[in-house]
Amino acid sequence: MPAECGSRALHVATCVHLPRVPFFRVVHGPQMNILANTVVTLTFELYDADGMLLESTDGPITYLHGGHSGMLPKLEAALNLKQAGDAVSVDVEPEDGFGDYDPELVKLEAVDRLPPEIEVGMQFEAHTSADDEHGSGTVFTVTDIADGKVVLDGNHPWAGKRLRFDCQIIDVRPATAEEVGHGHVHGAGGHHH
Ligand SMILES: [Zn+2]
Repeated sequence: MPAECGSRALHVATCVHLPRVPFFRVVHGPQMNILANTVVTLTFELYDADGMLLESTDGPITYLHGGHSGMLPKLEAALNLKQAGDAVSVDVEPEDGFGDYDPELVKLEAVDRLPPEIEVGMQFEAHTSADDEHGSGTVFTVTDIADGKVVLDGNHPWAGKRLRFDCQIIDVRPATAEEVGHGHVHGAGGHHH
């Protein structure tokens, strides 16, 4: 009989050895903070400086926190240490967002050099000699068509804009080792492979 069982006379029949795992399993623990290598589920609305809605998520999105996802660093910094249920509003200046507006990226092209179905608002990717042929090219937006010419704007649509993200955090969970290794989220809202 092991010594820790105490009185042999009284407890010999009832003494049981608890396994060396926590007796209470945490089912719904304290809220988890957003940290590097947590998987964050959130929705957001994106506004410009005039309060015009530029984009909103159709439903919750998930990303792997900690510089893996292409999420703006300024946005990740604002979300850091927040928890499910928190609302986070963050202002992003152009230098922390999509850059300043560059007039050099606006090109004029003859309309007959472009596909016949071209119309204002259409976007397409163009590779220039400066781009790596395997890399992504510049995305141009058609901003005007007149007098046989097409105005192509290679600036990101949000370049030069001060943006405000209003985020609602829905869930925070630890990433699996595999997710950290791959640098992206698996399962719901993530990669399936
Ligand atoms: Zn993966």
